[in-house]
Amino acid sequence: TSGAASGKKYIINTDTTFAPFEFENEKGEMVGIDLDILQAIAQDQGFEYEVVPVGFSAAVTALEAGECDGVIAGMSITDERVQKYDFSEPYYDSGVGMAVLADSDITSYDQLKDQKVAAKIGTEGCTFAESIAEQYGFEVAQYESSSDMYQAVLAGEAVACFEDYPVIGYEISRGLGLTLPTPMEKGSSYGFATLKGANPELVEMFNKGLENIKASGRYDEILNTYIAK
Ligand code: GLN
Repeated sequence: TSGAASGKKYIINTDTTFAPFEFENEKGEMVGIDLDILQAIAQDQGFEYEVVPVGFSAAVTALEAGECDGVIAGMSITDERVQKYDFSEPYYDSGVGMAVLADSDITSYDQLKDQKVAAKIGTEGCTFAESIAEQYGFEVAQYESSSDMYQAVLAGEAVACFEDYPVIGYEISRGLGLTLPTPMEKGSSYGFATLKGANPELVEMFNKGLENIKASGRYDEILNTYIAK
């Protein structure tokens, strides 16, 4: 039976600040590419859901504890995560970038020696920062949300942060006083996640719906709403 037939309402957790994928607009509403894609897919496939913005690491923790049915949060499909989660087909390609203050002298990882670098708990950016921390001799300080992490760099608590390139790029284009001095590091594409084996029908509906909204042009329309091409 499909989610619609069983009358089930899926609880989908998301991040709090991860523009343009999910963020609060001027009216205090949660908006973004992830939320629009989910809505379009749910409409296409006829299932009910409720989105709960709890933050990224909290969303993943809740998923593991069975407290939600799925996570849509610009979540990268990493080799490590596919052991634990069932992901949908990828719906957006991403990568990781180092951001520094707009007027910073830092243009390479070498200049991070003996400095503090900010990263967001449980993210691919944090894993990347930790993977090169010893080599370049910097310390990684972890933050709960992307906004706290950006704030740490703006306030001089950290000299750089590692964040998903499209996300920090979007913030910079909207006036955040940071810059991306180094090329993007290869990262994983985003997927919708459920706990392994827990909601196979939901992943199936997501994939079918994704195919349909790509074919109908709705997917491109959503991206164009948030990202100027
Ligand atoms: N794409 C990154 C990851 O999955 C960050 C996601 C996020 O912070 N919402 O780890």
